[in-house]
Amino acid sequence: MSYIELHQVAKTYVTKSGTVTALNSIELAIESGTIFGIVGYSGAGKSTLLRLLNGLEQATEGSVVIDKQLVSSLKGKDLREFRKGIGMIFQHFNLLWSRTLLENVALPLELIGVGKAERLEKARELLALVGLEGREEAYPSQLSGGQKQRVGIARALATEPKLLLCDEATSALDPQTTSETLALLADINKKMGVTIVLITHEMEVIRTICHKVAVMEQGKIVEMGDVINVFSRP
Ligand code: ADP
Ligand code: ADP
Repeated sequence: MSYIELHQVAKTYVTKSGTVTALNSIELAIESGTIFGIVGYSGAGKSTLLRLLNGLEQATEGSVVIDKQLVSSLKGKDLREFRKGIGMIFQHFNLLWSRTLLENVALPLELIGVGKAERLEKARELLALVGLEGREEAYPSQLSGGQKQRVGIARALATEPKLLLCDEATSALDPQTTSETLALLADINKKMGVTIVLITHEMEVIRTICHKVAVMEQGKIVEMGDVINVFSRP
């Protein structure tokens, strides 16, 4: 069994103006340790798919299995436990502006009740890992975009997740900073073996770090495979 398996997944939203089909007949398998990219235009269903993977939303039909757990049936405490095992990285970083970098990175550990000394030590290690040693007491507003995303990455790793989900992680960054951020993610994947699933509307991101890719259009996966094969077709 693959690390992540989606079988016949559909998601519809009921709105005032009618029913919106965001995902339809999704079949997806992702192996542990892979960097898997999901690419498509705005409205293709990428964010919805990501929210099914992190358990923030439930599929309308089909099954979502991650690490042998049927995510689509988890509730309450089990769902909260499952979500702790996932690191999230966001386009706009989602840092707390009134807290230092050290406190930002330690936050996920604080939320699960890890003691102060232990969580600050771990946060210090992670800031060093992402190249921000010496900036522990700085505030997010003092950083460049690329540095902010490094803090976002450090924070995502605090609970030692096996899975990192990246939501347009480089879309707010310039090309140079984008390359640096992607290189850092690739390095983390290699060193720690963490599986990375990223969604993006930028082909270049897929070409730079992904091993595998799924191309989405109108709620469906229209192509999938090794990045080299999918993008070298005429
Ligand atoms: P993408 O991330 O590729 O831009 P989304 O998953 O955000 O795609 O959206 C897929 C489709 O589902 C779009 O038509 C969008 O308008 C719709 N959609 C997404 N989230 C919601 C929601 N919470 N309620 C209603 N419709 C939604
Ligand atoms: P993204 O580019 O990440 O898809 P959007 O601006 O499309 O971001 O959506 C932002 C938020 O609004 C998301 O949480 C999405 O689920 C929600 N959303 C998107 N489309 C709709 C919709 N038609 N009705 C209600 N909520 C929506």
